[in-house]
Amino acid sequence: MSIAGTQSAPPAWRLLLDYVRPHRWALLAGALLSLVTGGTGLLLPLVARGLIDDLSHDRTITGALLAMSALVVANAALGALGSYVLRRTAESVVLGARRKLSSYLLRLRISAVDRSEPGDLMARITSDTTLLREVTTDSLVGLGTGGLTLVATVVMMGIVDPVLLGVTLAVIAGAGTVLTLILPRINRASRQAQDAVGVMGASLERILGALRTVKASGAEDREERTLHAAAEESWRQSVRAAKWSAAAGNTAALSMQVAFITVLAVGGARVATGAIDVGTLVAFLLYVFYLMQPIQQVVGAITQYQTGTAALSRIQEALQLPAEPPSLPAQLPSPGAEPAALSFDDVRFRYADDLPYVHHGVTFEVPAQGMTAFVGPSGAGKTTVFSLIERFYDPESGAITLDGRDLAEWELSGLRSAIGYVEQDAPVLSGSLRDNLLLGNPDADDDAVTRVLKTTRLDGLIARLPKGIDTLVGHRGTRLSGGERQRVAIARALLRHPRLLLLDEATSQLDAVNEAALRDTVADVARTTTVLVVAHRLSTVTMADRIVVMDAGRVRAVGTHRELVTADPLYAELAATQFLATTG
Ligand code: ADP
Ligand code: MG
Repeated sequence: MSIAGTQSAPPAWRLLLDYVRPHRWALLAGALLSLVTGGTGLLLPLVARGLIDDLSHDRTITGALLAMSALVVANAALGALGSYVLRRTAESVVLGARRKLSSYLLRLRISAVDRSEPGDLMARITSDTTLLREVTTDSLVGLGTGGLTLVATVVMMGIVDPVLLGVTLAVIAGAGTVLTLILPRINRASRQAQDAVGVMGASLERILGALRTVKASGAEDREERTLHAAAEESWRQSVRAAKWSAAAGNTAALSMQVAFITVLAVGGARVATGAIDVGTLVAFLLYVFYLMQPIQQVVGAITQYQTGTAALSRIQEALQLPAEPPSLPAQLPSPGAEPAALSFDDVRFRYADDLPYVHHGVTFEVPAQGMTAFVGPSGAGKTTVFSLIERFYDPESGAITLDGRDLAEWELSGLRSAIGYVEQDAPVLSGSLRDNLLLGNPDADDDAVTRVLKTTRLDGLIARLPKGIDTLVGHRGTRLSGGERQRVAIARALLRHPRLLLLDEATSQLDAVNEAALRDTVADVARTTTVLVVAHRLSTVTMADRIVVMDAGRVRAVGTHRELVTADPLYAELAATQFLATTG
């Protein structure tokens, strides 16, 4: 599964180097330490020779023993340091990728999120990044150290006998051809295995996000099958990747054995004709033997690299989703502290190019201060008005201005911090009530919190809870009632001291008493703030300074309740039926 709307990426090795570059010196140090460890190992036979020499001449061996012990200890210490540095570097590469992805995903455009599976994006941050660990150490270091040894050995072979080197290289080239057929299969299988992990993440997110509905619908067995299918698909593809990796490793081993036999045959013939002597042949055969390990190491590295680049391509796809521009302070102005005036001028908008228009030229004006109500049948485009004001989406044509300036000409985070937004379904995040209330204003002081809790009538609830404001609210606030969630969302918005307050059906789940109390609060807020409400209750709507009647993506009429009841038949009908029905 790839993400819709992403373009082709630069080559994988370039991407990998981007992640590794900040850690190149540590990586080099780790690789050198590993090389040195191997090198000091080679000194041991020399020390042993001295030791045996001493023994046979009846000399004391204390010196040689000490030297040998020192060498062994130094070797172990360097080896440990080397593996630590390498592992640490690999973890830093993973950290770098996770940081980059996390920051990026928080800046994603809502439209990009609309088209992706959050669970799959989650898997890209948590699971795919882990695969960069192996590709960094095993692959890059293996390629580096194995490659160096390989080159050195090949040079030595060329010095010993160029003809036999040609024979060896021909065999290696043959094996290389086979490998070029195998490697893409490893890459494909790894990619599909990771995609299946993404599918699993997406299913998990869907199921755990609505576990009550899944259980109430008796859909556990079906959802279980979906999860198992994804897990099994990942298993199947990983096993396929393992099969091809094993084939690659054995192709390398086999090629060296074939090289050994071929060199023996060709070399034997050359000895017979007197072109080389037996010593040269033996030396060359030893080098073929030496070649075995670095070749295996390099092939292992390239195999590992296929898995790594499969993960890398998934990471890169996520990084190509459309994101909001990073906030650049002082580049664009932020709205001031006064209540904001707002206007829509002939705004046309649709959620995607292949979807119908939701706004067909919406026009209205809201002066600073006071309360404006949006009414209209469900699907009229009221919530979309608020999404456009928050710049979750941008209109296709027409203009939206705040204080006379186009929304795009305000600094985005500054614009949003001027707005308090209570969404239609009043989302509450897991965590404590305090976390939720302070989400939009972590610095709010206790007095402000107490005041807001009083006006939203949450003080009673908090007094009843054993842990008060620090009570955990459960995933998406499941431990709260619908009305309590709405009041938490309103309190959160009010704590931001917004210049523009957007309330989308924010009181729909409140009882009459709580609703009346909040109506007073909102009326109070509207004296110093611009308030926009999408409301169904007549009591709230009649209180508004002006009412915008929307239908099917257009503004039908603007006016006061008194004017609209006579002037607009749709409004009159809404007022007579829907409003009254919900006023109860
Ligand atoms: P209202 O709030 O007036 O009930 P909305 O503004 O929520 O209406 O929705 C207007 C239309 O836009 C509806 O037809 C709805 O299906 C569609 N819509 C809303 N949100 C999205 C979205 N994220 N992607 C695609 N279509 C959407
Ligand atoms: Mg709505």
